[in-house]
Amino acid sequence: MINFLPQLYDNELFYSVIARYRRMCGMVSGRAFIRDLFGEFVVITSSNFPQYIRNFIGNLPPTSKVTTKEIIEKHTLFNFYTSFLNEEKADHIYETMGKGSNGSRLNVEQQIGFGGSKVRKPSYLRYCPLCFKEDIDTLGESYWRINHQIIGAYYCSKHHVLLKESSVLSTGNGIEFICADEQICNEELLEDNYSDTIKLLNLEYIHNAELILNRNFSRKDLNYIIDFYIDRLREKRLASKNGNLYMKDVQERFLHFYPKQYLELMQSSINPDSPSNWLRLFVRHNKGNRSPVRHLLFLQFLSIDPPDLLLSEKVVGKKKDSIVHNPSFDLNQRREKWLKLITENPGANRSQLKDKGKGLHTWVYKYDWDWYDKVTPKAQLGKEKAGTIDWEKRDEECLSLAMEAVEFILQRKGKPIRVTPSSIRNILGFGPWFHNVKLVGTQRYLHEVKEDINDFRIRKIKWALNEMVYKGDRITPYKVQLYAGFGGSNKEVRKLILKELVWIKK
Ligand SMILES: [Zn+2]
Repeated sequence: MINFLPQLYDNELFYSVIARYRRMCGMVSGRAFIRDLFGEFVVITSSNFPQYIRNFIGNLPPTSKVTTKEIIEKHTLFNFYTSFLNEEKADHIYETMGKGSNGSRLNVEQQIGFGGSKVRKPSYLRYCPLCFKEDIDTLGESYWRINHQIIGAYYCSKHHVLLKESSVLSTGNGIEFICADEQICNEELLEDNYSDTIKLLNLEYIHNAELILNRNFSRKDLNYIIDFYIDRLREKRLASKNGNLYMKDVQERFLHFYPKQYLELMQSSINPDSPSNWLRLFVRHNKGNRSPVRHLLFLQFLSIDPPDLLLSEKVVGKKKDSIVHNPSFDLNQRREKWLKLITENPGANRSQLKDKGKGLHTWVYKYDWDWYDKVTPKAQLGKEKAGTIDWEKRDEECLSLAMEAVEFILQRKGKPIRVTPSSIRNILGFGPWFHNVKLVGTQRYLHEVKEDINDFRIRKIKWALNEMVYKGDRITPYKVQLYAGFGGSNKEVRKLILKELVWIKK
């Protein structure tokens, strides 16, 4: 039974309240103390995620107004760590903290996903020397603050000075309850050698982290969050209309936004050449654990406050590809048909052409008028013009279509196609006339843009690796070779694959 509980300070870790209570009671035996608090002996393994809180509340004097909900939401890191988990997981963790895991296989930290995540939690409690000084001056004692324990927080959001690491373990078996007092903390400032850029990035990170720490938002499913990211990337032209990511651009911008040193500090370094770096896997519909650190880094990169995501109500995400081919090439097919009609009917004027290509005319005339007007012979301008092809004009036209086609080949999903004059012509659905030497600019472009065989092989290997990593396949050089469609015996290809694999292995 607990006879009196010290007043809970704002932003105080539950662990800290207990530590102050223990100091007040002067109790020596750890076991007796724990029994006193929780009504039975339990093993305390984490200061950030206390458990058996209901037992604790039940042991408080009847006059106490403190509730389990208040302790979990206001005096632990619960909200911070569960804001990006779904409702069910968050509820389950809440329950575990309330009821205690009772020796169940998963403790809270494992449920949150520390086990699988690459981002490790801090091992010691941290404090701000200036907060400490202020506390001593005004309260006569200090306490451990929740926001200083946020993973990835290097500064005090109030004083903008570096947080200091104490010698008090925040996690481990048989946690002791130690106060933030003069024996542990001091007022000396740490020398700050970080650049202003890093400091500002981190202060904004902390600001965002505090937004989710201090409020219990309703949770979203991971799929919803991913779709939200896709929508925002689409707005920034970092994803196609259908929601396919332009991953290379995303990565470039991300690495431009965050200095390398900062990503290291945040345990989120990126090897740009690895198809399985965390960023590439992050905005994908897979179930892997994502640390709140990475959600916050990604949101900050998108300049979005976390509540904008958590309070949003609608997302689009990826749109289903209803047709396999790119619709803009329907347009090109129509154009080609129309040009064919013109060449097959030398001398025909607009209204004659209209009669001959009824449906086609309506479409081109209505939806592609500028082009129609450019290529279709004008009525009664003189007979000499009729029936001749303006090769120069056509060259210009074909050149820009060829460029579009190359873009299409490089961006399309699925097994890569090599960029060659004939693959471009196939995509456009044009006849052999496309290779006519009179189309000077187009031919030059087709020649220049032809993809080197090894470049193409590498592109194919990267694609195969990406797919295999995404599917969780085991990766061996031989399997990659087959997946990419090379057959198993090509030694040159094998060398290229081995080179690519070196990049992946960290
Ligand atoms: Zn401070």
